[in-house]
Amino acid sequence: MITDLGTPEAVLATVRRIAGEVAAAHADDVDTAARFPSESIGELREERLLSALVPESLGGAGMPFETIAHACFELGRRCGATGLIFAMHQIQVATIVRHLDDAPWFESYLRDLSSEQRLLASATSEVGTGGDMGRSIAAVTVDDGGSCSFEKRAPTVSYGAHADDILTTLRRSPDAEPGDQVIALTHASQMSLEPTSTWNPLGMRGTCSPGYVITARFAAEQVLPTPFARVSAETMVPAAHILWSHVWLGIATDAFDRARGYVKGLAKQRPDTRPPAALRLSQLMSELSLLRAGVESGLRDFVEVSNGDREQLATMASALRFNNLKVAASEQAPRLCQGAMSICGIAGYMNGTPYSIGRHLRDSMSASLMVANERIHDTNASLLLIAKDVT
Ligand SMILES: Cc1cc2nc3c(=O)[nH]c(=O)nc-3n(C[C@H](O)[C@H](O)[C@H](O)COP(=O)(O)OP(=O)(O)OC[C@H]3O[C@@H](n4cnc5c(N)ncnc54)[C@H](O)[C@@H]3O)c2cc1C
Repeated sequence: MITDLGTPEAVLATVRRIAGEVAAAHADDVDTAARFPSESIGELREERLLSALVPESLGGAGMPFETIAHACFELGRRCGATGLIFAMHQIQVATIVRHLDDAPWFESYLRDLSSEQRLLASATSEVGTGGDMGRSIAAVTVDDGGSCSFEKRAPTVSYGAHADDILTTLRRSPDAEPGDQVIALTHASQMSLEPTSTWNPLGMRGTCSPGYVITARFAAEQVLPTPFARVSAETMVPAAHILWSHVWLGIATDAFDRARGYVKGLAKQRPDTRPPAALRLSQLMSELSLLRAGVESGLRDFVEVSNGDREQLATMASALRFNNLKVAASEQAPRLCQGAMSICGIAGYMNGTPYSIGRHLRDSMSASLMVANERIHDTNASLLLIAKDVT
């Protein structure tokens, strides 16, 4: 059944159905086997949710960014890997939608993405620069006939083997500075992905994110005209921090729900006394409220600025604001999962119980590495010394 996605409410109802009926049912197997969550991504595709953010004029559902963020929360709540894949795809889509700048090739790409429900991955990190998205080693090379190529050593490309297209950061040309970057969008048929590692990580196992040497040949019009520095500041970084945070909030919320279910079970067994763990549950809930408040206010601020003077997103104060969101959410989410596990005790520590928290804890621990928090603090530390107004 394909649902009419006319409103944000309809989109979220569909996402909740997919999250609850499909993603949740396969989450443990996806995690155990470190396999791509093909059932839930297939269903999201079927419901045309991969183009939810694409304007209606280009064949998408034209949903607001808030709806996508809430969808990331719902999916992350049932399967962290599905939530993160959906988030990463939508971050790339948002990047193109918001920086089209009359680039006809990219407009036509969004039409294809909508009609074919193409899945878009990203290769921004690089061997040699790590998670520093603002520098590249690989460069766009243009041959005598005008066609372009690159070779990039990418340490982690989530769902690279399952993606229809990849958005890659590159130096503008072989003689450009590391920070003079562009992004190129290449189709699977234009690339060769040679694996350089396997994927057997602690968490987020379903994202299937090994390293590759990516080589590609493509047309010059597949390079987005807008400089990456602008794309990154106005969209890619804040959108990533917001959508990732919604996924982590979803994971932490499910961990809390499991802990609550466990404590309610204890209370049912001994209706005459309140279990001591109820007090810790209350403490955990106040921590969860803090995480939720931070994530929601980050989303509100981003939407508000995006609807007004979007260039404000390129200010130092804005960079600090969304960097802090990422760092705080990525530290709070695993703490919350650990709190939930200690409430559930051995039932939380064991896999395969209704109160298992292992997957949640492991998935949430990827958050502080998805661009290392130390790297973000390093950037923030410099900004704090030069920015005028930061509070
Ligand atoms: C689940 C998951 C999926 C991902 N998917 C993708 C993807 O699809 N595409 C993509 O491009 N990337 C992706 N990444 C991000 C990518 O894997 C990492 O950001 C990148 O590989 C950096 O790896 P690194 O931690 O080894 O390197 P670095 O960022 O270089 O960090 C190495 C070490 O150095 C420390 N460090 C780095 N800089 C500083 C500093 N300035 N001060 C102090 N310490 C510092 C770090 O804390 C860390 O201990 C993903 C990451 C995860 C966890």
